[in-house]
This record gives sequence, C-alpha cells and structure tokens, in this order.
Amino acid sequence: MIAIDPARLRSRVETLARFGGLPGGGVTRPCWSPPYEEARAWLLGEIRAAGLEAWVDPAGNVFGATGMGGFGAERPAVLTGSHIDTVPEGGILDGALGVLAGLEVLQTIREAKTAHRLPLAVAAWSDEEGRYGSLFGSRAFCGTLDLLRVEEMAAVDGERLVDAMARAGFDARRSGEAKAPAGAVAAYVELHIEQGPRLEEAGIPIGVVDSIVGVRRSRVVFTGQADHAGTTPMERRRDGFLAAADYALKARDLVVKHGGGRSVTNFGVVHVHPGVSNIVPARGELVHEMRGPDAKTLEALARRCASLASRVARRRGVGVELRPMSATAPALCAERVQAAIEGACATLGLGSTRLYSAAGHDAQNLAAITDAGMIFIPSKGGRSHRVDEMSDWDAIARGANVLLHALLALAA
Ligand SMILES: [Zn+2]
Repeated sequence: MIAIDPARLRSRVETLARFGGLPGGGVTRPCWSPPYEEARAWLLGEIRAAGLEAWVDPAGNVFGATGMGGFGAERPAVLTGSHIDTVPEGGILDGALGVLAGLEVLQTIREAKTAHRLPLAVAAWSDEEGRYGSLFGSRAFCGTLDLLRVEEMAAVDGERLVDAMARAGFDARRSGEAKAPAGAVAAYVELHIEQGPRLEEAGIPIGVVDSIVGVRRSRVVFTGQADHAGTTPMERRRDGFLAAADYALKARDLVVKHGGGRSVTNFGVVHVHPGVSNIVPARGELVHEMRGPDAKTLEALARRCASLASRVARRRGVGVELRPMSATAPALCAERVQAAIEGACATLGLGSTRLYSAAGHDAQNLAAITDAGMIFIPSKGGRSHRVDEMSDWDAIARGANVLLHALLALAA
C-alpha cells in the first residue's frame, strides 16, 4: 500500500522550524517578516525539488501542484494546504504540518506514479494567524477579502499591511487578483494539529472535523463620568470601568449557561480612560469575543449580551455602546469529504471520531467555495500557540497517510 516517507516529512518539519526559530524551542514567524520570506523561498525550492509545479499568487499564497498549470474550471483540482506563518512564540506544527504533509503526499503520489483523475495541489495560505488580517490569503483566494479595507489593515504595532507586503515585493491592492475562478477547486482537505486535549484524552488517533466555530467580536464601550477619586462619594460615582467589569463577569456566566456547552467567550482587550489612579474612570472599553459551532446559538448569545449590556449600564448610571467588529459564521464541513477521510482511516485501520474545531482555520473560507474538510491529530497535552506545542512523530505520519488516501479518493 502506498505510504508517505515519515523521515522526509520530519526532516522538512525540523528544517522549516529553523526559520524564525527561538533558542529555547518554538518559533516566531509572522507573515511577511524576513524569516517568513526566507521560509517561503525555502518552501518554493522544496516544491520544485519534489518535481512539482510551484507558483505564488498576488496575495502571497504559495502553491505546489501535479499536472495542472494554475487554477481553472476546466480541470478542477483537489486541494490541500494550511499555513507557514506563526503566532509570536508559537509552535513548530501549527500550520506547518498541513503544508509539509501536503507536499509530502503530492511527492509520494508523483514518485509512485499513482493514477488520479483530478489534479492535486497544495497551498500555503498567507497570514492565517492574522498579524494584519486573519485568514488573509485564503480569503483572497475565496473572494471574500474586502479590498476597500486593505489600505487600513495594520498590525497591533501599527505596521500597515501595504508596507509589509511591499517590503516582500507584493502590492496589497492587487490581492483580489488571487481569487480562484469559480469551480476551480473540486474539494479541500486540511491536516492540522487539534490544538486542544480531546483526541489525546480519548485515545483516538484521528479527528474528522464536522464544523469550524464561528467567531464574533464586538467593542463594548461603557461611558460614565470622570471624577475626583478622593472627594466623590461612592454612591455618586458613574464608573465606566466597573460597568465594563460587571458586564464581563455576567456575560461569561451567560455564555456558560446558554451556550449549549460548546460556546466560549473571552475579554482579551480592556482599556480604561483616562487610566490614572486618582480619577474615577470615565470610560471602560472591552473587546468581547464569542465562539461557537452553532450559528443560531451564537446569534442568540449576541442578543442576550446586548440586552445584558443595557441592563448593566442602566443600573450603574452609565451609557453603553456596542460596536460589532467582525463576525464569521460557523463553517460546515462537507459530508463527502468527511466520508473520504473516514474511508482513509478504515483503509489504514485507524480509529476516528467526528468533532468540531474550536479554532478558526483556512478551511472555513474554502468551505464557502467547495466541499471542505479537516483532519486533526492529537496535540500533546492539548498545547498550542506556545513554544512546547508538539505531537508524536508517529501521530504525524498517521495523519499524513490519512491525508494521502483521502486526497486520492477525492481525486479518483
Ligand atoms: Zn493553524
């Protein structure tokens, strides 16, 4: 039976980990940074050395393929891929695994001269982690990038996307040209580490993703009155921060109670104005994020949170404003792709379970233009987005072999 070369895959994973590699392990390789650009040049060289076609599109997405010469509806391709950018002080597998396993699978199929009716391609999508805009490259490819916003897209440190891309030799304003022709992708399968503890704790080698969570973010601004922090009696204070804190605690309980057991929430950004110790805060600002795999539940939670914000504001004598920042709907994986992955598991004698992805992935964009799905392998200790993120090398080889057989089935 055809199988990938685990030593070659491991060697590529370890080589890629050196670009932006940190002394104590892990890697910092944000998209468009010098280590990222070096990694991209290396990847293109590896794709060519494997005997595959290689090209880069105007959004900076890297592709490798067997016998297709670009995307077109005449001969739709079965596509795999992931990303080679990382979060700051991230791990060596998040994203890299899916790209390098995809390359390994295509090389294996080419060398074994295994027949496949449809062409096969692997993608490394730009800026999945969103230093400038999350899932940037796959959004451009799938035609959902808001080109009017490209000019204003910037990293938290203020660096603009247009400048970062220009430094790497790209014109951000032309990213829209990366859009794939309709019907050019027959199916998409992404191999990724789970980034959570479910597979490891259940002792199951392969996860078949059935849906990817939607994410809603909104800015919640409570506006009270700045006052002297010493002379103003407690009962007269209209404290913007305490209203924000009250809201955050109650919204957390609300999501736990009404989220169907699968929704989560986070307040990762808090601003207090004017932010000095001897002034009662006039304003408390939060970025409220909610994630869940069910669209109706997410919408209901958003409605409940909006009325909660009004109640908190009324009781505390402050004003409140809710400004939606972004909202992605949960993405459903195609039954046909899940069946192909489960078929591959059966061929290889591997157990599997269906599960939803609690993290966002490029596959959620691809799901809008084609039949998409994902394969998860266990993450040690459920750790990810940290330098000690890891999976067993055997688990990695198993995942790549499942990808191999799933792609062959979809391309047959
Ligand atoms: Zn990832």
